[in-house]
Amino acid sequence: MNAVILSVGDELVLGQTVDTNSAWLSARLTASGVMTVYHKTVADDQAAIVAAVREAAAAADLVIVTGGLGPTADDLSRQALADVLGKPLDLHPPSLERIRKFFKSLGREMPPSNRIQAMVPRGGEILDNDWGTAPGVKIRIGKTSVFVFPGVPREMSPMFDRHVFPTLATKSGRTILTETLHTFGAGESTVAEKLGDLMRRDNNPTVGTTVSGGIVSVRIRSDFPTPGPARLHLNRVEKTAAERLGPLIFGHGPTTLQEAVGRLLKQAGRTVATAESCTGGLVARLLTDIPGASAYYRGGWVVYSDALKQHELDIPASVLAAHGAVSEETVRLLALNAMRKSDADYALAVSGIAGPDGGSDEKPVGTVWIALAAGGSSAARTTTEHFQLPGDRDMVRDRAAKAALNMLRLRLLA
Ligand code: AMP
Ligand code: MG
Repeated sequence: MNAVILSVGDELVLGQTVDTNSAWLSARLTASGVMTVYHKTVADDQAAIVAAVREAAAAADLVIVTGGLGPTADDLSRQALADVLGKPLDLHPPSLERIRKFFKSLGREMPPSNRIQAMVPRGGEILDNDWGTAPGVKIRIGKTSVFVFPGVPREMSPMFDRHVFPTLATKSGRTILTETLHTFGAGESTVAEKLGDLMRRDNNPTVGTTVSGGIVSVRIRSDFPTPGPARLHLNRVEKTAAERLGPLIFGHGPTTLQEAVGRLLKQAGRTVATAESCTGGLVARLLTDIPGASAYYRGGWVVYSDALKQHELDIPASVLAAHGAVSEETVRLLALNAMRKSDADYALAVSGIAGPDGGSDEKPVGTVWIALAAGGSSAARTTTEHFQLPGDRDMVRDRAAKAALNMLRLRLLA
């Protein structure tokens, strides 16, 4: 079974709105074993929509159209469907009633222009919309089912899931389930080595790796005729991969490194503070990206200059003179003093040379020292780590911040 996805809207072809609907729908269709043949975007132009729907219906068993169902004069998908069928638009009174009720629930009268949204091409089927005003429409052209949904992603997605998704697995005779595990702290080849035979190309589920922002992700794809075995084998491979990768894995699905760290801190009932030089507050930003971070993030310092390192976090001038700001001795004291002053259970300190200037033979660009101080009920233990990070300024800062978070994550797991 295959599909074509059409998106309709002037804003899309003019580049003002990015077409996220097609990507979302394709991912959803793939998960059901339905291959998308192509995506096409057309303007709010009735003739163009008619031509695109005809072409799509000739190319695929399933056509999903999003957009052009609004109440205004430039919303033409409904009329275009009537044209394709060569039939008039009829009023569908139950839909008119639904739209009236929808406005009432917002405490408003229905504007007269919304009446058009209750019109359906004769022979078409109405698809309820519990998330907005415009109902969807389904028509058949030969053997092809054509679904039209509103363009608003927040309405389109649940409508697709209600009206189309449940019918697909049985029709396509395939179920494709995917899962993604995220790792930090090892390169792609190390992760691949640990996964070993799981990555053989002829396996089902298949296992592959991708890298983004220093995070190596393991993608598992299970492709079976029915959902039962697809789920069973996905779970089996996910479990084996997790065993082989151990603490390298920080999460799965949409989980970020900062979320993983936040979750562990929360579980342990511990708090953290930060003292940052080269990352300029990036570690603090990542930690506070997550709602509810106040439960475990105390706050921190951005001590960029030597003077501020001395004044704010009591780094002796003698230490800075003897070892420099980018040194094991300095980050150790930054972390210890940040922990003491903030009364946190842990503190992370980062100091490094992000470049492009400031490097030397002894300390080239990319040199980063990170310290993790730990106090509280556990015996005071401070660990330091040296990193030689690749890339430009942005990359060094990003990897340094993530490396710091990862040090804390590993400590919390221990
Ligand atoms: P419409 O159903 O054509 O009235 O679309 C309503 C709104 O939904 C548009 O103004 C866009 O903001 C949004 N929208 C429409 N099509 C898409 C799409 N393909 N991807 C993302 N957003 C869209
Ligand atoms: Mg539109």
